[in-house]
Amino acid sequence: MADAPQNPDQPAHDAALPTGAAVPAQWENSVPVVSGPPPQVDVSQRRLEEDDFNAPAPTLAGFASGFGMTFSTMFKKVYTQQYPFEIFPTAPRYHGRHVLNRHPDGLEKCVGCELCAWACPADAIYVEGGDNTETERFSPGERYGKVYQINYLRCIFCGLCIEACPTRSLTMSNEFELALDNRQDLIYTKEQLMAPLLPGMEAPPHPMRLGDDEKAYYTPRETKGAPQSDANVAGKPITGRAIEVGGHHA
Ligand code: SF4
Ligand code: SF4
Repeated sequence: MADAPQNPDQPAHDAALPTGAAVPAQWENSVPVVSGPPPQVDVSQRRLEEDDFNAPAPTLAGFASGFGMTFSTMFKKVYTQQYPFEIFPTAPRYHGRHVLNRHPDGLEKCVGCELCAWACPADAIYVEGGDNTETERFSPGERYGKVYQINYLRCIFCGLCIEACPTRSLTMSNEFELALDNRQDLIYTKEQLMAPLLPGMEAPPHPMRLGDDEKAYYTPRETKGAPQSDANVAGKPITGRAIEVGGHHA
């Protein structure tokens, strides 16, 4: 098939123009004739344009406006907190360091079920359960938390673990001073997380003091040990400002 006739008004973009060939009159303003490598442009030699000098000239009003903002800020209330010399209380439901709570006779509420570890999205909790025996009892049920660790390098303080705990053993305090100079010490052990023994409590292992069986143990009686709410009070950490988050089951 014969080629279509070339329109003399349309430049032939796909047509190769031989180097040195004369440019047809109708292409003169549309087809650059390139021969050899493109020229190198030295951007450091860019000349200043007229727009580069169009910034407004400084005025006295401009200085007054800028420094006026500075001076007015000097007389505003300062929000700087002189931590750690002045410690401001956190919000009541602040999510801080965890606490493993006790029953009023001192036995541990943790039953080693690992639900907190399964609920944790950061895989920060490690639990190993152990069996209670009649001669060595740490909690009122069959099992107790033999090994309990929380890795505060991982914890994001979301609180999902305390929601998952069926015995209200695990709660959170408002202790937030968890900065240390090594990684190992930020893995808190059961001994560090256990709530302190309050008056009327006895360090486990020991028999159930509040009832011979679990039903009697959990039946509230005013004469048996400290009130349950007292047993839920979080431990006294380094700063002594801990409170429990979440209350307790009646
Ligand atoms: S607060 Fe959240 S991240 Fe921290 S241990 Fe509990 S579930 Fe895991
Ligand atoms: S803290 Fe609560 S959820 Fe976690 S192992 Fe103990 S009883 Fe189970």
